[in-house]
Amino acid sequence: VRRNPAEPEFHQAVQEVLASLVPVVEAKPEYIKEGVMDCLVEPERIIKFRVPWEDDQGNIHVNRGFRVQFNSAIGPYKGGLRFHPSVYEGIIKFLGFEQVFKNSLTGLPIGGGKGGSDFDPKGKSDAEVMRFCQSFMTELFKYIGPDTDVPAGDIGVGGREIGYLFGQYKRLRNEFTGVLTGKGLSYGGSLARTEATGYGLCYFTDNMLKAAGRSFEGATVVISGSGNVAIYACEKATALGAKVVAMSDSNGFIHDPNGIDLALVKQIKEVERKRIREYVTVHPEAEYHEGCSGVWQIPCDIALPCATQNELDLESAKALIKNGCFAVAEGANMPCTPEAVEAIQGAGLLFAPAKAANAGGVATSALEMSQNSMRMSWSFEEVDSHLKKIMTDLYHNASNAAAQYGKPGDLVAGANIAGFLKVADAMLAYGLV
Ligand code: NDP
Repeated sequence: VRRNPAEPEFHQAVQEVLASLVPVVEAKPEYIKEGVMDCLVEPERIIKFRVPWEDDQGNIHVNRGFRVQFNSAIGPYKGGLRFHPSVYEGIIKFLGFEQVFKNSLTGLPIGGGKGGSDFDPKGKSDAEVMRFCQSFMTELFKYIGPDTDVPAGDIGVGGREIGYLFGQYKRLRNEFTGVLTGKGLSYGGSLARTEATGYGLCYFTDNMLKAAGRSFEGATVVISGSGNVAIYACEKATALGAKVVAMSDSNGFIHDPNGIDLALVKQIKEVERKRIREYVTVHPEAEYHEGCSGVWQIPCDIALPCATQNELDLESAKALIKNGCFAVAEGANMPCTPEAVEAIQGAGLLFAPAKAANAGGVATSALEMSQNSMRMSWSFEEVDSHLKKIMTDLYHNASNAAAQYGKPGDLVAGANIAGFLKVADAMLAYGLV
C-alpha cells in the first residue's frame, strides 16, 4: 500500500491473488527466495503520456494516456485499451495484473499488459474520436509492436477506435503488422473476435454447470451491461437454451420477462449508440428502471455481470442468493466485490472468476495474432472451435489446480494458481530479470 498509494483496485486484485497462492509458495519457497513474488506485483514498465486533441469547435483538450507493460515472461504484452473517465494508473495496473494470469490460463504464449485513457468517447463525434485516437497512437507507437506489445479493445474501445488507432500506427511505422487485435475483417481482423468474450464466458460457464449437473437449458439469466461482452453473452446463453430477462447500461436496466430482444439491443447499442432505455419504446410491455445496481434484484438462476469492476456488491449478492440463483460467472473484470464473492461462495453457489471466465476474448486475440503472422484467415467455425476447446481446457486446468492444492471446487483459487505457475516457472528459469 505504501509503494502504490491510492490504488484500491490494484490492492484488491493483488490481495485476492496472493491469498490463493499461499499453499503454492509453501510447497515451493523458491518463488519467494528468488524474487518471483516481488517481481510479479511490480510492472516491468509503466508508460504515461499526455494526449492533446482538438474538438469540433476548435477547443483544445488534454487527456492522460497509459500503457502498463506488466509481465512478458511468457510472451509479448497483451491486453486491452480502456477509454473511460474513471481511468487512472491504479485501474490500469489492476487490469494489467489480472491480465498476466488470464493470458497464462489461455495456454497461449502471451504476456500481460493494459492501457487506456481518461478520455470519454460518449457524446463525441466520429471526427473527435479519430483525432483523439491518432494523438494517442502518436505517442504509444514508440512502445508497441507485433512481437513486443499488442493492445486490443476494452470499455470504450471497439471496432471504430481500433480502426483509427491501427491506421495511425500503420502510417507512422510504414508497416502492416498485427500490432493491434480486434481489427476489422477487411484489414486483418479475425472472425469471431467480436463474439469471443461473451461466447467464451458461456462456454466456460457451461462446463462449470455441467460438472455440477446443471445447464443453461431452461435457466433464467440476468446480464449486466449491454456492451460487447454482454451482447454476445446474451446471444450464446440464449443459443444454449437459456432465457435472458435483463440487461443494463450505466444509466439503468431493462427487465423483459418474455426474453430480451437482442436484435433490438444490438441496434440501439452497436448501431445507434443510444441508451438502453430506448428498448421500452419498442417493447412497452418490458420495464425500464433508472440506476444499474437494481438489476441484481431480479430473480434469476444464473447471473452474468458483464459491465465493469465492483458493480455487484454484497447487497446484490444477498439478493441473488435469496432469489435462488445457483451460478454467478464474471464476464467483466472484477465485477464482484470481495464481500460479494465471499457471500456467493459461502452460500454454495457456483462461481466463475473473471480471469478464467472472460479469457475467451484475449485467447481469440492471440488467434488473430497467429493468423496475422501466417498471413491467413480462418473461418468463423474454425476460430469458434478453437475458442470452445480453449475455454473447456481452461475450466479443467483451473478445476484441477484447485483440487490439487486442497480447494476442490474453488475456481478463484484454481484460476489464480494455474495462471501463476506457468508465469512463475518461466520467471524462475530466467534468473533475476
Ligand atoms: P463496452 O464498452 O462494450 O460495454 C461496457 C458496458 O458496461 C456498457 O453497457 C456500459 O454502459 C456498461 N458500463 C461501463 N461502465 C459502467 C459503470 N461504471 N457502471 C455501470 N455500467 C457500466 O465494454 P466491454 O463489453 O468490452 O467490457 C465490459 C467488461 O468486460 C469490462 O470489465 C472489460 O474489462 C471486460 N472485458 C472485455 C473484453 C472484451 O473482449 N471486450 C475481454 C475481457 C474482459 P454505457 O453504455 O452506459 O457506458
